[in-house]
Amino acid sequence: MKLSILRGSLEIGGSCVKISHDGHAIIIDMGLPLYDKDGKNFDKRKAREMLPDEPGLYKQPYIDAILLSHSHQDHYGLIAYSAESIPVYASKGSIDLTLISEMLEKFKISESRFRMIKDKQVFIIGPFEITAYSVDHSAYDSMAFKVKAGGKTLVYSGDFRANGQRNWVFENLLKGVNEQVDALLLEGTMIGGTERQNRTEENVEDDLVKELQKEHKGLTFISFSSQNIGRFRSIYRACVKTRKTFIIDPYQAYILEKWPISMPKYNANNIKVYCVKNSNHSKVIFKDYKIYKFGKNKISVKEILENPEQYVIIDHHHVREAFKKKLEGSRVIWSMWEGYLKQENNYWAGKNVEMCKIHASGHADVAALKKLADKLKPGVIIPIHTNNPCKYADIFKKHKVLKLADKEETKL
Ligand SMILES: [Zn+2]
Ligand SMILES: [Zn+2]
Repeated sequence: MKLSILRGSLEIGGSCVKISHDGHAIIIDMGLPLYDKDGKNFDKRKAREMLPDEPGLYKQPYIDAILLSHSHQDHYGLIAYSAESIPVYASKGSIDLTLISEMLEKFKISESRFRMIKDKQVFIIGPFEITAYSVDHSAYDSMAFKVKAGGKTLVYSGDFRANGQRNWVFENLLKGVNEQVDALLLEGTMIGGTERQNRTEENVEDDLVKELQKEHKGLTFISFSSQNIGRFRSIYRACVKTRKTFIIDPYQAYILEKWPISMPKYNANNIKVYCVKNSNHSKVIFKDYKIYKFGKNKISVKEILENPEQYVIIDHHHVREAFKKKLEGSRVIWSMWEGYLKQENNYWAGKNVEMCKIHASGHADVAALKKLADKLKPGVIIPIHTNNPCKYADIFKKHKVLKLADKEETKL
């Protein structure tokens, strides 16, 4: 079995891995980079320039399949540019969320390309026997993969974390892989970073409750990713506990509606929908189901401003636009990666609002990475999805670390 990282050996995001054996090949993830070479947010219009240099993905495709680990753009973002005939294997959650994310894109992955896979499912593609394992991450229904071929075994961790109430999925992965692992492609987002102590989703909920219990006269904005269903739930529960009303937008309502699992929807008791009409998302969503659907759960700017301390409102661009002249006295709860806040175009920079940060990373801390490595005892650990591949050797002293450059091929 041969393996190369087409992209992502030296950066967080943009991951793309090729595995080949006996005249067949599969790709794991085909993501859009998060940053360009100057460290600025990657401009999606330049996506074509970033396509992996792998002819088998395009005009005369010979790649057998693409496995998608989860619904973050740095993992699926370039799949739409690959040949229609290549199937894409992903979990139900990843398929649903990717389709929703791409609804505004010009190039999107056709729904017919997806093949749904489940936790612990074993499936065969050419000479490869693949097992999917659920992992916990900030994208719902994320997966790690075990790939076997030619008597060798490789594990791709994908993006994952291992703490909090969903820790059982990590334990399942530890229990599930019992054979000799020849290579572990291990994400290292937290390696060498500043966020050392990995907090749990339960910590987030507790901190939100404490913050919302504080006396505050103005409106509270909350910044989080609409697709981070776990975070939505934490905020919702904190609002219930503190008797606040959570105001979402049609996009969030749409995601919740599409969600099969038990999750509060737009018509829950303490949820209201602020029906901004002019956002691109709303235009598409209102075609699918009409605005009157929200009925008595709709709320207007006027109603919100009559009693602002009662509400926690989703912090989306088009929502804050509606309040931009009335931000004084507002509070912002930043519940996503702190790095976004430091970006120069951040909306809240320089605004006269109270800012409080409550977040837990979607990525494993060093202790969890070590736990995985110690259990799997891989022949080699190959760094991926990290800014600091050089630090792996220091951290995983008991293991052999093989640092691959982008496109460098290794034989297992
Ligand atoms: Zn990622
Ligand atoms: Zn991710």
